[in-house]
Amino acid sequence: MRATPNESSAERDAVLARGCSSPIKTAIGVWMRCGSRIKSRCPSCAELYRNDWAAIARSGVFDGPVEQYRFYLLTLTAPSFGGVHRVPRVGDAMCRCGRLHNAGDSGLRGVPLDPGRYDYAGQVAWNRDAGVLWDRTRRRMRDRWDSLEYFIVREWQDRGVLHVHALVRIARIEAPSSDSLRDAARTATAVSKVDGTIVEWGAQADCKAFRADGDGAKTIWYLSKALNYVLKDVATDASEVPVAVWRHQVALGQAARQTRCTTDCEPQNCSSLVHQRYGSRSQVVSASRRTSKRTGWSFTGLTRTLQRQLRRAWWESQQVDEAGASVVVDSPAPLENLAARFRRELVARDGSAP
Ligand SMILES: [Zn+2]
Ligand SMILES: [Zn+2]
Ligand SMILES: [Zn+2]
Repeated sequence: MRATPNESSAERDAVLARGCSSPIKTAIGVWMRCGSRIKSRCPSCAELYRNDWAAIARSGVFDGPVEQYRFYLLTLTAPSFGGVHRVPRVGDAMCRCGRLHNAGDSGLRGVPLDPGRYDYAGQVAWNRDAGVLWDRTRRRMRDRWDSLEYFIVREWQDRGVLHVHALVRIARIEAPSSDSLRDAARTATAVSKVDGTIVEWGAQADCKAFRADGDGAKTIWYLSKALNYVLKDVATDASEVPVAVWRHQVALGQAARQTRCTTDCEPQNCSSLVHQRYGSRSQVVSASRRTSKRTGWSFTGLTRTLQRQLRRAWWESQQVDEAGASVVVDSPAPLENLAARFRRELVARDGSAP
């Protein structure tokens, strides 16, 4: 049953050939993609991850009775933890430091005006508690609009704090104005489970309605750009980073190592990733789930688990080989086709859950 070293390396080569830069071998001897979400570690797997999520995002906008819903793009930001330089990506802008910045000053982008007085601890604590805050926010919105479903992407701002883009869908019969939705979300608060402080959103918030047509396609394109961005390493290689940005990242990293991630965390002995990611514990992307009472964000019940199963099934069907030995899993291309077929089947089955 065991593959010889030669066969085994051929399988590994097959995974490599599909783009994964560091395939891993499972306990049963199957070579698989590394599954990294980080572009600098494995561009191919990170791209696959992004495409999977983009397909889920689309399925909540295009694959159902869209005329019965209103769609919104909601953006929520973190509060201020101290002023930072404002460096535009195009054109120039007056900064609070008194200088006019342009793209050439990118070495100052997101850097505190006064590092000595910047609230690093507050910022990493906010990142840590951002998941609880979103949880309160989504409950608050659902208390008002029961039909609400969402798809959320958490993106890093240059200053090293998370902000949130959410696609929101609400049934037309109860759909609010964009402003009402924005205000209900922005004024939600939570209590930190770690230190009992109140966690709030920043004053900057935005909400725009969009239609499930080219408008929706544009919105998802915008969001998948954000997805691209979140899949970059949080902390970049010091040699590529301007010194002021690097200092800021180091200070944030130190604050994250010193913060407690749970009530009984001893930071110096704790190996939780929270201490390595500026306090962040949340998944970067998530969508509301299907339950017995709800459709969930995806009209067709598309999830990442389902996508992985589809991909595995596809590869297994391709690899019913002579040896009948190990199979190689994963490919991005056939997934969309499979997902489309799966959706059609679901629709044929009257939208029942998988
Ligand atoms: Zn990989
Ligand atoms: Zn400035
Ligand atoms: Zn900890």
